[in-house]
Amino acid sequence: SSADVLICGAGPAGLVLGNILRAEGIRCLIVERQSRAHVESRTRAGFLAANSVRILSENGLAEGLHTNGQHHDTCVFRGDHGEFELKYSGLGRGEIHTVYPQQDLVRDLIAEFLNRGGEIRFATEVQEIDPHDAALLLADGSRLTGRFVAGCDGQRGVSRQAVPAQVYHWDHGISWFALLAQAPPSMAAVMYAIHPNGFAGHMARTATITRYYLQVPPGFDPDAWSDKEIWDELHVRMRADQHGELRTGPFVERRVVDMTSHVMDPIQHGTLFLAGDAASLISPSAAKGANLALMAAEVLARALATQINLGDAQPLIRYSAEVLPRIWRAQEFSHWMIDLLHGPFGNDSDSVFLRSLQRARLESLRDSRAHQDFFAENYIGV
Ligand code: FAD
Repeated sequence: SSADVLICGAGPAGLVLGNILRAEGIRCLIVERQSRAHVESRTRAGFLAANSVRILSENGLAEGLHTNGQHHDTCVFRGDHGEFELKYSGLGRGEIHTVYPQQDLVRDLIAEFLNRGGEIRFATEVQEIDPHDAALLLADGSRLTGRFVAGCDGQRGVSRQAVPAQVYHWDHGISWFALLAQAPPSMAAVMYAIHPNGFAGHMARTATITRYYLQVPPGFDPDAWSDKEIWDELHVRMRADQHGELRTGPFVERRVVDMTSHVMDPIQHGTLFLAGDAASLISPSAAKGANLALMAAEVLARALATQINLGDAQPLIRYSAEVLPRIWRAQEFSHWMIDLLHGPFGNDSDSVFLRSLQRARLESLRDSRAHQDFFAENYIGV
């Protein structure tokens, strides 16, 4: 191939990386297992932090986001203490979220990458990566070679396997039933409901689509409940009788997401560099995955451009050291969020102890301005 950088995977990480590299005049080729239609309709994340919006804006990738994205600056916590609201535009650094569905962002990024003269091979699976020769081995037996490889192939990709690293894995032992309802949001804010039956969450996506989450036991069958049973449980956990009815509609997507995290160290080997979910998987409790993917993609793009265009290898050598502390900060906050939102079930002494800590944590967040500022900085920050 005539590409300097071969990018494995056309998710947010690979596409932002490719777009920045193209703007620097660097030849790159993206190889993506799925079809274009598939990746452009894959619903996942939606909440973009201020740093992500900055990265996209500074690199000419934010037109759709600025036209169609919605600003969010409030989250609400509900529980047996009642309800309190944190308006984070007035806390911490005063930053907000922009909600823009991930599939729309991916669609914009693909169009712009092609516009910048990049090449994408869809429906082409990478089977193995050779980190010494910067080579991709494809499923059809052919081999592509470049100068560098970016492993942006997500949590189930192949690039991680080519990096001999420590993998730190954590299973929180909690699963979320992730639902997309064809229904308008029930409120403007993100809502986190803490209930003895388990956690429930509400996040606006668009005027007609809303994401809901229900904590379920690991191994839960996403088809076990009817739409009505799901709405009934959401009403109970969100205490709709006290705080107002939810706006219902059919569920157009049901998926069980396990709260697991993993971090690799280092996230580079030879000519291969990992970014996004390939480098670290974060539980979705604090909605940070796509934001970390964009953060790493920007750092990697600058490092590759410095090497290729200026002959300076230092930023690439330092890539893992630059990115990993920021990944760990996000992991720490996401872990804290999990403890905030989920108490153990049961009435044995250990469970009651941990639930009492959870309650104290919530009360501190409700009452302490310093705690709220710290929360806001970490909730929006990467
Ligand atoms: P991906 O988006 O997974 O892209 C990897 C690409 O590589 C895919 O297109 C895949 O097909 C391709 N690929 C894989 N293997 C191969 C191969 N062998 N050969 C070629 N191509 C390959 N994050 C947030 O920040 N905010 C949120 O609100 C949020 N909500 C979420 C809700 C849900 C239900 C889920 C599941 C995730 C959520 N996330 C959220 C996480 C976020 O979606 C991911 O962190 C993000 O997609 C990571 O981007 P990526 O580019 O690293 O990987």
